[in-house]
Amino acid sequence: MDATCPECAGKLEPKHKLELGEIFGCPDCGSRLEVLGLEPLKLAAAPSVEEDWGE
Ligand SMILES: [Zn+2]
Repeated sequence: MDATCPECAGKLEPKHKLELGEIFGCPDCGSRLEVLGLEPLKLAAAPSVEEDWGE
């Protein structure tokens, strides 16, 4: 699966299948990205809240 960070346009290569609503961090810029759609893949910067997402 191919993804691009909406913040830094860096290429993301998720190691696992993304799930709707999942939030993960961009390895390049560290932005928190939320998965808004899967087909096609749609990402948006997630509002920064408490660091409570583990990983
Ligand atoms: Zn990024």
